[in-house]
Amino acid sequence: MEVRELTFKGESDPKLYACGKCGKAYSPKVYAARDDISHAAARRTAEECCKPRFCACGTELDTSWTACAPCRERKMLAKATVIDATEYKGPVSAKCNGEWGEGYSTDIGAMIESCHDAGEPVPAYCHPCTCRPLKIDPVNLLENATDDMHEAAADQVVDADELVAFITAWNKKQTCVTYYEDWSRVIIIDQLAFDDIMNRAAEPSR
Ligand SMILES: [Zn+2]
Ligand SMILES: [Zn+2]
Repeated sequence: MEVRELTFKGESDPKLYACGKCGKAYSPKVYAARDDISHAAARRTAEECCKPRFCACGTELDTSWTACAPCRERKMLAKATVIDATEYKGPVSAKCNGEWGEGYSTDIGAMIESCHDAGEPVPAYCHPCTCRPLKIDPVNLLENATDDMHEAAADQVVDADELVAFITAWNKKQTCVTYYEDWSRVIIIDQLAFDDIMNRAAEPSR
């Protein structure tokens, strides 16, 4: 992209470099380097500003990602460990509304059923979930409480064991659990559709 040089009134040496397309200006002052180096860097940044960027597959990128969405998806799937659908019983997350909404469902069966109910296509794959139950760490709690106090405060806590025992028992009563999509593992639901996603990598889209 064309670079426009900005100067101070009555002077001729450039102070800022602006992108010729969007007009955003870049200052050499942000670089802690010699004048010639910092000016070259600012000019280069202005040059790159509105330059179209491409994914390795040839697709033009319109976000700050370094790869397009299908390539990022394939990369994530290629790295993931494939889990057999019959060996996984817990909650799953997939590209569909899901039983619980936002893609989450109790298990694979419930996810497929929710797709059928909603008239949505069943996704080619889903991810197992990791879970985090509601839990308070009593040791952390005490550490935080005494953190900004005088140095010996932590040693002067009375009946810390009682608090730990109470919170441990309280933690056990909690039923609240949050599920997180685990991208490091994948369960293939439709092998043909999954292979199709993976093989599209071979044919650049432009
Ligand atoms: Zn620009
Ligand atoms: Zn791509």
